[in-house]
Amino acid sequence: MEHSRQGLLIVLSGPSGVGKGTILHRVIGRRKNLKLSRSYTTRGPRKGETNGTEYWFLTKEEFLKAVERGEMFEYAEYCGNYYGTPRKQVQQELSQGNNIILEIEVQGGEQILKKCPEAIGIFIIPPSVKVLEERLRARGLDSPEAVIERLEASKHEFRYAKMYDYMVINDIMDECASNILKIIDAESMKFKHIGYKIEEVLKNA
Ligand code: 5GP
Repeated sequence: MEHSRQGLLIVLSGPSGVGKGTILHRVIGRRKNLKLSRSYTTRGPRKGETNGTEYWFLTKEEFLKAVERGEMFEYAEYCGNYYGTPRKQVQQELSQGNNIILEIEVQGGEQILKKCPEAIGIFIIPPSVKVLEERLRARGLDSPEAVIERLEASKHEFRYAKMYDYMVINDIMDECASNILKIIDAESMKFKHIGYKIEEVLKNA
C-alpha cells in the first residue's frame, strides 16, 4: 500500500530537573525513525558536554545572527541564556519521514504548538515539587543559585502544561519512557499523520 508519510513533530517540555534528558536517552534508539533535535545555545558547556553532541554552543552574537537570518524554528531566553531549534534539521527529518523530538522549554513549546497544529505536545511533570528540588540538587550540574533560579522558572513553566496534548509523570523512569513510546506509537497510527487516503483504496476496491 503506497502512502506518503511526513514524520511526527513532537514537542517535549517539563521543568528543569524533571529528568527529560535521561528519559530521552531511554526513548531514542527504541524506534528506528525517531530523532532528537540538537539545539543552539549560548549557555556554556557543562562538564562532559561537547560541541555538536548535546548542543551547538554559540556566542550570543552568533546566536542572534542566526535568528536574524531566519534559521530558527523557535527560540527563547531561559535563565539568562538563549536556546533555539535550527529549522533546517527539523525540516530534513520530517520530510524524510522521521519523527523528531524537540526537547525545549515552554516559551519555545508555545511557539511551535501555536504555529504547527499538527505538532504533538508532551509535558513531563515530577511526582512533586519537593522531588524536583531534590533531583536538581542531586544532579550537581548547577550552582546553588542556579538551582534556585531553575526552581523559580519551573513554577512558571507549570502554567504552560495545559497547552500540551499529553501529561506524563516521571516517577519511575522506565515507566515514563515507556509511556512516551506509547504516545508516539499511537500517534504514528493516526490517519491524519499517516497521510493514508482511505477513499483512494475504496475507489480501486
Ligand atoms: P539546560 O541548560 O538544562 O540544558 O536547558 C535549559 C532548558 O532549555 C531546558 O528546559 C531545555 O528543555 C530548554 N531547551 C533546550 N534546547 C532548547 C531549544 O532549542 N529551544 C528552547 N526554547 N528551549 C530549549
